[in-house]
Amino acid sequence: MKKKTSNAPCCVFCKKSHGAQFNIFTPRFKPFGTACVECEKSVPAHFKTPEEYLAKLPATPPLPTQAEVETRPSFYDCTHAFAVPGEDNIIDMVRPDTQPSCHYNQNLEEMRQRYPEAQIVNATEFFAAIRQRKNPPLEWEITTRENYWNMLEVLPPKYHRNGAFLVGEAMDHFGANGAARYDAFKQVGSIYYQSNRPVTVAEIKAHMEQTLATA
Ligand SMILES: [Zn+2]
Repeated sequence: MKKKTSNAPCCVFCKKSHGAQFNIFTPRFKPFGTACVECEKSVPAHFKTPEEYLAKLPATPPLPTQAEVETRPSFYDCTHAFAVPGEDNIIDMVRPDTQPSCHYNQNLEEMRQRYPEAQIVNATEFFAAIRQRKNPPLEWEITTRENYWNMLEVLPPKYHRNGAFLVGEAMDHFGANGAARYDAFKQVGSIYYQSNRPVTVAEIKAHMEQTLATA
């Protein structure tokens, strides 16, 4: 018998369980708990059952042979990539010699069967755009005293000095060295602020030093 570790429903499409929302009263795919709200929205309307939809998905192409792996150019030789503009990941790199993708050996047309919006993009520019989206200049937005205190007390803070703190759990890891970033809060007088994006420990230290130096 299969061991059940949790009673939480698991979406048949995206396989998400925790963190996914399920329509309780009028699920599109029955019974309750079959598909999460987001997948119910994104699966085209003419599919009546999950099986029908899953059967229509293009097959994942076969992985390359050992010989293909050994002769293909390295990631660092590639200047362009297959990607969907605005997304945070590339799909594959473009072979500089023969143009199909490195990993799946597909051209753009084949790639678009799985990723209709895929384009060939300049990899350096694409990665720079991701960095810029995820790491805009640090700004402070006003928040409530209540929110400030809730976030301060929810976990032992990662950093806490002069009314500024980082919430104790990392939101992501960022940049070339993969430094952990945390949600940041600060109090200045009777005004409470939160950061517009997660920040690293080094960043908050530098920010506070600068703030105190100019105070
Ligand atoms: Zn889902």
